[in-house]
Amino acid sequence: MDPGVRDALLTAYADGSWGRYHGHHCDQLTQQLAESHHIEYVWLCASGTVAVEVALRGLGIGDGDEVVLAAYDFPGNFRAIEAVGARPVLVDIDRETWCLDVQAVEAGVGERTRAILVSHLHGGLASMSELRELADRHGVAIVEDACQAPGARVDGRIAGTWGDVGVLSFGGSKLLTAGRGGAIVTNRQDVYQRAKIFCERGNDAFPLSELQAAVLLPQLEKLPDRNRVRAENVRRLLAQCGGWSWLQPLGVPDSGQQASYYKLAWKVFQGAGSPCTREEFLRVIQAEGVAIDAGFRGFGKRSARRCRQVGDLVNSKLAAEDTVLLHHPVLLEPFAVIDQLAQAISKVVDSF
Ligand SMILES: *Cc1c(COP(=O)(O)O)cnc(C)c1O
Repeated sequence: MDPGVRDALLTAYADGSWGRYHGHHCDQLTQQLAESHHIEYVWLCASGTVAVEVALRGLGIGDGDEVVLAAYDFPGNFRAIEAVGARPVLVDIDRETWCLDVQAVEAGVGERTRAILVSHLHGGLASMSELRELADRHGVAIVEDACQAPGARVDGRIAGTWGDVGVLSFGGSKLLTAGRGGAIVTNRQDVYQRAKIFCERGNDAFPLSELQAAVLLPQLEKLPDRNRVRAENVRRLLAQCGGWSWLQPLGVPDSGQQASYYKLAWKVFQGAGSPCTREEFLRVIQAEGVAIDAGFRGFGKRSARRCRQVGDLVNSKLAAEDTVLLHHPVLLEPFAVIDQLAQAISKVVDSF
């Protein structure tokens, strides 16, 4: 419940912008995203999923090109690469951050590779300075998917702005939400122009509405404070939920990194010595009323006809089997609720 959102809706109703193609809300959102990201160009669109495709098209990627991505990533990202006619190249993730492993990317970049699609996942942050160096050395572009990490800082720089083009989502479960929506951010005028031309077909084909922009504005303003509260609550939670051999959380990022918690990831170790399967754990923790769910299914089992696979992808396959994710809303609750959450998780762990 956010009174800022209610006020924005009422204002959009009163000034008639709710029913217009063009109005001041989209312009204002474009400007404020540019300012908060210290970036030149912003293009608003209908979803994060379409924004990834628009980003690839903005880079001019198409038939015969290859795009490197993690074998554990958002399902739509694989499809976005296919949608522009390019071929996905699957590389492994780093087990500590749930994001691309830099060495694996190095091994994956080939003759036809034009871009690296890198997502910050589950509270983890990709090693952007190393990836940037690698991409520049090979002359390939970076699409930085910050859908799960709006406002996060990687070595002081805002997530989404390390890439040649960054992607944001305003989908219904995300930290900034309008039910649906997305954006690309870039300093490259050529990328912006190509993206714009792809989206404009006489009219804007994948638009964000005035009403969506109106409710995003007050949320964008509060994002830095809310990210701080969530990060503090994650620290408090993890201080009480540790030392278990079979349920282990994502490492808290070191100084210089500022995570943005859309989800908080944990590993449920499977196999010999593990007291329960992931599904058993999920059943019991959900019965306690805790919003913890399974992670992505990953692309490790995709047919070799659809993609090029680099190495055994062992970490991505493990992540697809053992990741569980705490959903973010509880992370804005007071300490008492966080402590209750810690107790509920501890109780479930002790019960196995
Ligand atoms: C949610 C998400 C998207 C897509 O966003 P939608 O707005 O839901 O289409 C893309 N990448 C990642 C990593 C996401 O979590």
